Amino acid sequence: MAEKLMILGSGPAGWTAAIYAARANLNPVVLEGGHIPGDLPGGQLMLTTEVENFPGFPEGVDGQELMHFFRKQAQRFEVRIEEYTGADSVDLSKYPFIVNDSNGKTWESHALIIATGATANWLGLESEQYFRKKGLGVTACATCDGAFPRFRDQPVAVIGGGDSAMEEATYVTKFSNPVYIVHRRDSFRASKIMGERALANPRIKPVWNSTVEEVLGNDTEGVTGVRLRNVLTSEVSDLPVRGVFLSIGHTPNTGFLKGQLELDAKGYIVLKNPAGSHTSVEGVFAAGDVADSTYRQAITAAGMGCRSAIDAERWLAARGID
Ligand code: NAP
Repeated sequence: MAEKLMILGSGPAGWTAAIYAARANLNPVVLEGGHIPGDLPGGQLMLTTEVENFPGFPEGVDGQELMHFFRKQAQRFEVRIEEYTGADSVDLSKYPFIVNDSNGKTWESHALIIATGATANWLGLESEQYFRKKGLGVTACATCDGAFPRFRDQPVAVIGGGDSAMEEATYVTKFSNPVYIVHRRDSFRASKIMGERALANPRIKPVWNSTVEEVLGNDTEGVTGVRLRNVLTSEVSDLPVRGVFLSIGHTPNTGFLKGQLELDAKGYIVLKNPAGSHTSVEGVFAAGDVADSTYRQAITAAGMGCRSAIDAERWLAARGID
């Protein structure tokens, strides 16, 4: 028998959708993800240490612990969870919709909520991943991690030249000084206004035409610098910094949706009603970073998850499925 509602993904958007949908008696099933080796279910917060900006936790909360709370709350309402399982492919031209999961099982569902998130892009350097995994000064979320004591009054580097890099660098100037923006070209990709605003900040110093060759540091002190290569002269130099904030874009996890519903040029799901969750396919809803390249916060993803469950509930009820 077809499911009423399946939810793909287990970040803040997926779990919030699951809690709302379960309380609306939709008996949802969540494909939790984490099926790709080296990947954890629970989304990007599983890679974060302290979360200080999620309301309701005045002392902050560990990212993994927060996701554990989300999951536990969903379990309280008897959400069915398919562990270490993701969607390999979907067929949205059929109704009920078809979902083929990573264990080879084929599901049918009357409605779908896609909350598979996005993955921060990394340079792919061994040293970058070493210090990232150890929590020793490399992160892809300045908004999450910029306020940590290790960065206070220290020089740090933001890598990238887009709007996010400008925003993150400006944010980090509240804590760190100087904040280098290391960019591989001689002009920013960012909108003019955001680029100019960043350059007008006395704490921000651009480092043009440069790529990071290696993150320098050790287990005791963490990150101590970055080795840069000037792309015009090939000159290599070391820049002392105590933190490295990657801001080189995100990739939405929508590979399995290609050709099935409308995606934008960067692969994000296009929402038909920007304040809601309807996609180009009726009965398919999206929530969280998979459909949001702008805000990308746990709290905004959770809010979108709530909307998507309410939208799905109303859509199903209008078809007599409740
Ligand atoms: P983005 O616009 O794609 O910019 C990524 C930046 O990273 C580019 O400057 C790119 O360099 C650089 N980059 C990519 N791969 C790299 C690599 N391997 N090594 C070194 N540098 C690399 O991404 P984003 O800044 O995250 O923004 C995403 C979207 O959200 C954009 O549409 C943006 O306008 C929007 N956004 C808007 C706001 C706002 O309006 N408040 C805030 C944040 C984001 P190149 O320039 O050389 O390609």
